[in-house]
Amino acid sequence: MSTYHAPLNDIRFALRELAGLEQVGKLPGYEDATIDTVEAILEEAGKFATEVLDPLNVVGDREGSRLLDGIVKTPTGFKDAYRRFAENGWNGLAKNPDFGGQGLPQLVATAVEEMWHGANLAFALCPLLTQGAIEAIELVGSDAQKAKFLPKMVEGVWTGTMNLTEPQAGSDLAAVRTRAVPQPDGSFKLYGQKIFITYGEQDYTENIIHLVLARTPTAPEGVKGISLFIVPKVLVNDDGSLGVRNDVHCVSLEHKLGIHASPTAVLAYGDRGGAVGYLIGEENRGLEYMFIMMNLARYSVGVEGIGIAERAYQRALAYARDRVQGRAPGLDKAVATATILQHPDVRRMLVTMKAYIEAMRAVAYVTGSAIDHAHRDPDQEARKRHQAFVDFMIPIVKGCSTELAQEVTSLGIQVHGGMGYIEETGAAQHFRDARITTIYEGTTGIQANDLIGRKTARDAGAVARLVLAECTKVATDLSKTTDADLKAIGTELASAAQALSGAIEWVVASFGAKTRAAHAAAVPYLRLWGLVAGGWQMARAARIAAGRLTQAQGDANFHRAKIATARFYAESILPQAGGLARSITGGSESVLALADEQF
Ligand SMILES: Cc1cc2nc3c(=O)[nH]c(=O)nc-3n(C[C@H](O)[C@H](O)[C@H](O)COP(=O)(O)OP(=O)(O)OC[C@H]3O[C@@H](n4cnc5c(N)ncnc54)[C@H](O)[C@@H]3O)c2cc1C
Repeated sequence: MSTYHAPLNDIRFALRELAGLEQVGKLPGYEDATIDTVEAILEEAGKFATEVLDPLNVVGDREGSRLLDGIVKTPTGFKDAYRRFAENGWNGLAKNPDFGGQGLPQLVATAVEEMWHGANLAFALCPLLTQGAIEAIELVGSDAQKAKFLPKMVEGVWTGTMNLTEPQAGSDLAAVRTRAVPQPDGSFKLYGQKIFITYGEQDYTENIIHLVLARTPTAPEGVKGISLFIVPKVLVNDDGSLGVRNDVHCVSLEHKLGIHASPTAVLAYGDRGGAVGYLIGEENRGLEYMFIMMNLARYSVGVEGIGIAERAYQRALAYARDRVQGRAPGLDKAVATATILQHPDVRRMLVTMKAYIEAMRAVAYVTGSAIDHAHRDPDQEARKRHQAFVDFMIPIVKGCSTELAQEVTSLGIQVHGGMGYIEETGAAQHFRDARITTIYEGTTGIQANDLIGRKTARDAGAVARLVLAECTKVATDLSKTTDADLKAIGTELASAAQALSGAIEWVVASFGAKTRAAHAAAVPYLRLWGLVAGGWQMARAARIAAGRLTQAQGDANFHRAKIATARFYAESILPQAGGLARSITGGSESVLALADEQF
């Protein structure tokens, strides 16, 4: 039996020591984010995750959401948990105070979101999607639209959804066909079908605000002809009261591998005369708005990967401390049997899980801090610099944290042996739930295309080299120290950074010249970046931990473990960088060698 406990020690370390929480709290508008306030928020969120969300996780998996006569019934306890979640103000943590939010930094919201995802991913998706819809309305909605919809959504009284996908339009949103026909009163009527809509229907709230991509009759073909619409499930009167039911209906729910509690809906628009919708922003600019907003959603899905990987690690560790099996090689022969934690291979699996999680957490939190600086830094140049870093890191956070979550949750099953494959232990659920994270909000392939194209080749590698230079600087500093741990970490990091440097130059040179080979290398390049960025942050963490030990400050055991984990990452994980770089620069042509009929 394992209960989720928010990993507060590592979260605090990542927030304060690596992501600079104190500096974020000094940005204009974030003055309320003092260390004490954040500490109280983390404690409360951790309690809510452990006491309310975690116990429902298995219930949600077993019962799933069901559609009965057009009405979705979420699993036992979910509706009540959502009510408590909204009443406690969790929905509006980082939202604009003008609309009832608490205006806290993204960095703080990141730590809290990690806990929701760790405790119950299927539950956490509802607020995540609502957050996306809030972002879109805040970004481009009119003042009247903001006043009408945002306060209720920020409070959590209404939820939000993102309606992009159609049967023929998944990764390629240019293929969207849903039609939006203008009406004399300035509104539109929408006709079409959207599939895979997360929380497209639910029984938590009276209203759902759908954000829908559709084409107007005069729209040009392709990506430049898509507009964004607000389509409420129940129309909202001018005084804010609820009016008549709109013509958008859930026609079925998908049967899925995981996240069973999250209702994934097929929504029919306009089957009964047309669904009333309101254009937001300018016509034909919908996809552009969606991509700005999607940045945060992609980031949040990266944080999902970290949360669920942490949950899998905690469960595996609890099992390994308890399960007795065989004798551990090289230990005291007088001890007849050992827990599996004493077996070197089980330790290898657990430290791999721990190291990936800590590295990805650090990378994500550092990026979260940059998001706050990009919004609020008083210095314009600093804002630009931070924004460039954020834009560069988002496909890495999304792509790599979610891909690593596959490895970590799979190791979680392996640590359990046969019991991991049996549903009762819960390890299998984490593996199944995690599987979607590399697919929605843009698959890993789509993140990697973004990284090689818009983020690396477009500026001829300028930002990529700047980010790598920061990493190399840490590596060089550490390789020069006399501390054996730091020196070893620095040496491995320097060699991985050099491998990455070669890969950056290859991508820049190949993107235009050998387009297909460059795209064949995209995912390994993304993976290489994730590996090195993780090593960079683990090296920073080790250096800080070593400093704290020297000054006899803080929890010495935690700091020693941090250094040992960073050294493991450097010596056992970072060497993969050389292999990845070789496969990028030397192996990409061979990816394309088979003719269609040879597959
Ligand atoms: C549980 C769940 C919840 C979801 N929630 C939502 C939601 O709330 N709202 C919403 O609008 N959508 C949602 N989606 C849809 C999701 O975003 C899409 O499934 C995803 O974007 C991939 O699109 P697709 O399924 O059509 O796959 P495809 O686009 O058909 O991709 C199939 C494969 O081809 C690859 N591929 C496709 N194009 C390229 C390319 N250009 N370069 C390289 N590789 C490529 C992909 O990486 C993938 O491996 C959800 C999906 C699921 C399963």
